[in-house]
Amino acid sequence: EKELLQIYRGKDTVTADGTKVALYGNIGNPEDAKGVVAADGEGVGLFRTEFLFMGTDSLPTEDEQFEAYKAAAETMQGKEVIIRTLDVGGDKDIPYLGLEKEDNPFLGFRAVRYCLKNEDSYKVQLRALLRASAFGDIKIMVPLVTCVDEIRRVKELVAELKKELDSEKIAYNKDIQVGVMIETPAASLIADLLAKEADFFSIGTNDLTQYTMAVDRGNAKVAYLYSAYNPAVLRSMKNVIEAGNAAGIMVGMCGEAAADPLLIPLLISFGLGEFSVSATSVLRTRGTIAKWSKADADALAVKALSLSTEAEVAELLKAFAR
Ligand code: PEP
Ligand code: MG
Repeated sequence: EKELLQIYRGKDTVTADGTKVALYGNIGNPEDAKGVVAADGEGVGLFRTEFLFMGTDSLPTEDEQFEAYKAAAETMQGKEVIIRTLDVGGDKDIPYLGLEKEDNPFLGFRAVRYCLKNEDSYKVQLRALLRASAFGDIKIMVPLVTCVDEIRRVKELVAELKKELDSEKIAYNKDIQVGVMIETPAASLIADLLAKEADFFSIGTNDLTQYTMAVDRGNAKVAYLYSAYNPAVLRSMKNVIEAGNAAGIMVGMCGEAAADPLLIPLLISFGLGEFSVSATSVLRTRGTIAKWSKADADALAVKALSLSTEAEVAELLKAFAR
């Protein structure tokens, strides 16, 4: 398979009827960006910045963060690099932050919630991102958003920091985009409202599946429910993509589902504009996208959305896999 996929190297990512979409890579540190380039990814759709904060015993400084974000941007040579701000909590602990043990950590004090209650250290990260934006096409992405207030507050902080940088005569991209990860049912249900505030969406299907199905993504006993083929998750993804497209903002996906060959036709039908996958999945994903026309994908989506169970959807998608 690996050999056959080489025909997709150096090509645009297009559907069988010629619609171009973006195909990006997910990374966990600046070094990984080289892997995305080597794999022929067209940008970075998710840079998980947690690595910078883990494996150390104190917060990374602004300069340390700046160097890491700049390195990723430079490796991508002007291609888009979507950097997610700190997604701490849930299953990701950072001991020196001293977060209290919680009964329900996935429903607790984490990600943007933590950052907005610790604005001083959040500003350090946002300032580093702004400074690095002078060296490439960096976009800021906010995890685990559940309400409009959160994205508004992040944008206020970004605006404040821009003024600060102006007065210090430090360069940054004045048009830097700030986007929202859609990975909670709340965000999905208010996607139309969030689309008025956000410059782009990226659907985090790992968490969106967990929260939609109320199933801990790491719990083997309930893993049978953890599937993006569930009608509830399909409807949620469709709603988000349509709301984003209606508002004229880019909608991408950076959860595992973006690389699922069975799901890709549905994502094409729903109108997804950007797929962000692991470097190892880039060429295969481009190959799968190339096999589907919008009309064929639409026909399959109509059938899939008429089904009542995860198993029926899985069976249908397998039968039509190309
Ligand atoms: C997701 O939730 O789908 C996602 C991409 O983020 P993470 O896996 O880091 O939670
Ligand atoms: Mg997530």
